[in-house]
Amino acid sequence: MTYHHRDHDNDLLTVSANTDSDGQPTVLIATTRDGIDIPLDRIEELVAGIRDTARQAATSGPPPEHVGRRVNAEDCPACSISPTPPPYPFLCPGGTP
Ligand SMILES: [Zn+2]
Repeated sequence: MTYHHRDHDNDLLTVSANTDSDGQPTVLIATTRDGIDIPLDRIEELVAGIRDTARQAATSGPPPEHVGRRVNAEDCPACSISPTPPPYPFLCPGGTP
């Protein structure tokens, strides 16, 4: 998700999901060189746009991996979201999802 706000003299603010150098999710906020003017009655809209982008950044990481080692499938992040969970005795098979 990317949130945009364009002001009265055509300057642009862009908020997008990103990651830092450690791979942690972040929100990147960029503006054109002159910055942007935000009318006071649109501040809440801007904050909501940043918040929505942050939520999207937090959930857009790499897909979960199987824990393997024959752990209970309920304790494996990949097994727990799999549309085809492992058969009884419900142990994580390991490997890639
Ligand atoms: Zn698993």
